Amino acid sequence: MRFQFPVYSVLMLASLAARAAIPAAELDAAAQALEPRVVEWRRDFHQHPELGNREIRTSAKVAEHLRALGLDVRTGMAHTGVVAVIQGALPGPTILLRADMDALPVTEKTDVPFRSTATGEFRGKTVGVMHACGHDGHTAILMGAAEILVKLRDRLPGRVLLMFQPAEEGVPEGERGGAPLMLEEGLLDIAPPEAAFALHVGSGLPTGAVSLRPGPFMAGSDFFRIAVTGRQSHGSRPWAGVDPIVAAAQIVMAAQTIVSRNLDLTSAPAVVTIGAISGGVRHNIIAANVEMLGTIRTFSPADRERVIKRLGEIVRDVAAANGASAELEMMPAPNPVLVNDPALTGRAVDSLKRALGADAVKTSSLLTVAEDFAYVAQSVPSVFWWVGVTPPTQDPATAPDNHSELFYLDEAGLLVGLRSLLHVAVDYLQAGSAK
Ligand SMILES: [Zn+2]
Ligand SMILES: [Zn+2]
Repeated sequence: MRFQFPVYSVLMLASLAARAAIPAAELDAAAQALEPRVVEWRRDFHQHPELGNREIRTSAKVAEHLRALGLDVRTGMAHTGVVAVIQGALPGPTILLRADMDALPVTEKTDVPFRSTATGEFRGKTVGVMHACGHDGHTAILMGAAEILVKLRDRLPGRVLLMFQPAEEGVPEGERGGAPLMLEEGLLDIAPPEAAFALHVGSGLPTGAVSLRPGPFMAGSDFFRIAVTGRQSHGSRPWAGVDPIVAAAQIVMAAQTIVSRNLDLTSAPAVVTIGAISGGVRHNIIAANVEMLGTIRTFSPADRERVIKRLGEIVRDVAAANGASAELEMMPAPNPVLVNDPALTGRAVDSLKRALGADAVKTSSLLTVAEDFAYVAQSVPSVFWWVGVTPPTQDPATAPDNHSELFYLDEAGLLVGLRSLLHVAVDYLQAGSAK
């Protein structure tokens, strides 16, 4: 029997494939068309910022938007987290896209017409609240990406798990929250992802640029409290007591030698900062106690352990050398090092270069700020990148930093962020599983 080449089926497959593919230009056009609404959402969030674990209005807006897109929405994860799954019509991998929703206890001093005048409660005090870290932009960008991906659902392979998380910046004292709590509450069981992506807007980059690096990227952070105990006496007769202020001063100085003398600085940087110190009540009283608060930033578990061990020894032994006693207490909920999966980062960089141009994609240095997306990255191969939001009229080196009361987000960066997220996500889904 003569073999007949099934021309029709090849043609059918070819036309199916042509219909199945989502062209880059279509993603860009969809992002462009949605830009005004993304800006509108961002301004609304900016004007109504909410502190960590209190993102009531924000998460309601997010949930309302996702429901309007026809998605099944789960609310209340880790207090105010919102989760939904976009199910593509074609088979493919599952990915996670994440945005954070919380603002900071900062009183806004910018002059944008939609500046925040909101207040909230922080450590028992009423404080100004501001989206000084751009999480308003992240939330708006992910809402935009969700809308576009839903519209492309017929040609979308795989699934997208949308993660809108609370409390990235930390939780009110005594509470838990953020990415680790969402993970504990079963986030990844909803639609187990094989890759996760997140972005962050930053003033250190010009609008149009993005930056990232493979491997360890953002520092692990720990917080600590040091309690130094002396013996109170008359300030004119210090020999009658034990001065915890002198001991604390020596601890502060000795702690500086951990990074400079105990770590291999050719492998990675580290930071030990004492950020707060308090003790004593009066000029002529030798104090009974001193309390110090500080933070540690490291890029590997080995460095982290070494710093904590050395700090503990210094605290104990320097105090003892002064006849005082002191204790180091490590605070709960440290952030692990954020590690970008090297292979996945390579793929994301290719997508970003195709979408934004090779010159727009920068290799970042190590960053000593921390990010709780690191918890997601511990469970799922992940890529995290920064998106520039400093306008061309300003020098990113001197633009007000993230967390500043003058932090300014150039809204042109929102479209760059949206396009970067869409291209990375859709490229990954269309290429199929890496496994
Ligand atoms: Zn921040
Ligand atoms: Zn942030």
